[in-house]
Amino acid sequence: MIGNTTWNTTEPARRTLLRGTAAGLASGLLGPAGAAAAAAPHRTGVVARRAGRYEVLALLDARGTFPGTREDQFGGATEEAWRRADRIDPRAAGPDGTWRLSFWCYAVRRPGGRVTLVDTGVGPAGSPASGWAPVPGRLPRVLADAGVGADDVDTVVLTHLHEDHYGWAVDPDGTALFPDARHVVQRTETASLTPADSALSYVVTPLRAAGLLDEADGPVRLAGGGLRALPTPGHTAGHQSVLVDGGRRRIYITGDVLVHAVQLADPSVAYRFERDEPTARATRTALLSRARAEHALLATAHLNEPFTRT
Ligand SMILES: [Zn+2]
Repeated sequence: MIGNTTWNTTEPARRTLLRGTAAGLASGLLGPAGAAAAAAPHRTGVVARRAGRYEVLALLDARGTFPGTREDQFGGATEEAWRRADRIDPRAAGPDGTWRLSFWCYAVRRPGGRVTLVDTGVGPAGSPASGWAPVPGRLPRVLADAGVGADDVDTVVLTHLHEDHYGWAVDPDGTALFPDARHVVQRTETASLTPADSALSYVVTPLRAAGLLDEADGPVRLAGGGLRALPTPGHTAGHQSVLVDGGRRRIYITGDVLVHAVQLADPSVAYRFERDEPTARATRTALLSRARAEHALLATAHLNEPFTRT
């Protein structure tokens, strides 16, 4: 997801409670807290699924409405594709053809309690996403609700370096919010950044300086045998997704391989801000058909229900 216009947020009152939580997160405020909350969907912003020995927690950072019409963003979609999309994600259809979307991050809790975090949302007020995304996000509070402390996180996977995916990786002053974690990003992603990309100064340079940036070339074995990062280019040059292989159940944490259910209904539909449309289309088609063949769940970043089937 990336855009450049003003957003309408749907939960401003709750979000105002969260101003200043970035510092609290870094100082350990996210200690163990009501793990039972993980079982209560949406009210707390946490939706849990299990894949074998892994617990996958969807964490709702923010919700908002994209200005303009959805047809502006997905110009190639047919009426039939929109009808199917509306059945898959009815809440995405806002008034006057607008697009309502969520911003999900994922925590994969492994046996023993260590956590791999996939993406870090829109971030606090003043983050680079604040020019167009519904900030501040709620991720620090939602992690606390899920019983995940900052020091439980030993790996952060950044699917790509758009502003709505790295917002809570660092404070606005560049301090890492997960100081015990290696931050896995594809080298092709960092190499594609220009000095004008806010990601370079905001998140890449500080994490590099702190020795926390792990720039990967291709697939990455993240923990044990069941957790892997897989290159899924197209949305950006070095986009990656995460496979949680729980044996009988697999979950693909897709990042922005698809950003709207219309691309689930018809994987050939391009999104306006894809860097390389043909590659994005080929990646999406391949990932969705693989997930379908494996009866896997998809865990997406921007659909309004985090987990879905192909
Ligand atoms: Zn996005």
